[in-house]
Amino acid sequence: MRTEKIVCNICDTDKYEKRMYKINSGFLVKCSNCGLFYANPRRMDIIKEVLEDKTKKERTSGKKLNLKGRLYEFNTVLDRIQAVKPQGGRILDVGCYDGIFLNEARKRKWDCHGVEPHIGGARYAREELKLDVQQCVLEKCSFKDKSFDAVTLLATLEHHPNPLKTLKEAKRFLKPDGLLVISVPTIPFYLNLVRSRWRMFIGDHYTFFTDDSMKRLLGKSGYRLLSAGYVTKSVDMETISARLSSDWQPYNIGPLGRFFTKFVEVSRLGGVRFTVNPYDMKIYLAQI
Ligand SMILES: [Zn+2]
Repeated sequence: MRTEKIVCNICDTDKYEKRMYKINSGFLVKCSNCGLFYANPRRMDIIKEVLEDKTKKERTSGKKLNLKGRLYEFNTVLDRIQAVKPQGGRILDVGCYDGIFLNEARKRKWDCHGVEPHIGGARYAREELKLDVQQCVLEKCSFKDKSFDAVTLLATLEHHPNPLKTLKEAKRFLKPDGLLVISVPTIPFYLNLVRSRWRMFIGDHYTFFTDDSMKRLLGKSGYRLLSAGYVTKSVDMETISARLSSDWQPYNIGPLGRFFTKFVEVSRLGGVRFTVNPYDMKIYLAQI
């Protein structure tokens, strides 16, 4: 596996307070200046695939898992956006994947547009959901400057090689009173307990935030923070059991997970659903 050494994305220093432990995307460190947690060195293969528009692997089958949960979460996000922008308007979803969020926004009369480098995701959004989605990275898209009332980056920034650059780039698409909406993994109070098994440590998550580091990142890229709040999740037993037995997930428990999956299937408990706050993901609203 190819890895690269990097510096803190927010303050350009290579000094870290703690060398922590190995995670799926590299080695976890905490910046001694701003407190940003990030993978350093980090694995390069997935970043490279995305930047070169080579992500052919379809992940839509996996994404069908917990569709109800995604719909629940996306509607809570839309509620928050509409608390600030009740009149709606034009929205750009950066990293929109298969377009499920935009599809919900469209039901609420938003004029919806998206950008997504993943070939399978972008194709689904365009062909199945008939959404205006450009298959590329944000820097290469051709949407008009200063034309959006809201730009969303939902569970997206942690995948990007350079979050600061992405936020600076996103700024040019916002109208002067436009709203920036970010959801990201935030370091939970129980990290020391679960360590490398935290659910956010998957192979293509590189950056993990705290309120403090997010405030600094927003400040440095030219925004001011309006509000922050935890994201509540809705999951069913089918999803939990599938993740406990998936190699992609840091908390897969191998044979025991596969046994649990079988049990959920046989007992028909797959549809049993919970609403939980895992205290490890936040949504931030900001303006220029
Ligand atoms: Zn830093």
